[in-house]
Amino acid sequence: MDAYNPCLDCGICCTHFRISFYWGEGDDAPGGFVPAGMTEQLTPHLRCMKGSNELPRRCSALGGEVGKQVFCTIYENRPTPCREFPTHFEDGTPNPKCDELRAGIGLPPLPHLPMPHAA
Ligand code: SF4
Ligand code: SF4
Repeated sequence: MDAYNPCLDCGICCTHFRISFYWGEGDDAPGGFVPAGMTEQLTPHLRCMKGSNELPRRCSALGGEVGKQVFCTIYENRPTPCREFPTHFEDGTPNPKCDELRAGIGLPPLPHLPMPHAA
């Protein structure tokens, strides 16, 4: 049986932060990989995921229903901040921000046990 992945029925972090990153991560730049059409320019050197720079905030790449069942439609090509968000126990320690964000939509705290991640 597959291990439980708490991100798949959460996704709240994808509706909480402005997902901004170096413009060159867009696939319209040499070596870029994030679908540029899903981003908007912030500054000459920064872009962000569409939907993450407005309220209500929700990254345009997020599929599904937050708190029920979600998925990242560009998971393999997600930008750096998504890859670097310290997901719960990924490095052997809890991420208190997960529980804080989850509590905001009525989800229970995560168990303090190692578990796989993807969101
Ligand atoms: S990283 Fe944390 S806040 Fe984000 S989807 Fe996973 S459990 Fe939820
Ligand atoms: S790119 Fe994917 S992982 Fe990153 S905020 Fe958007 S939906 Fe979430």
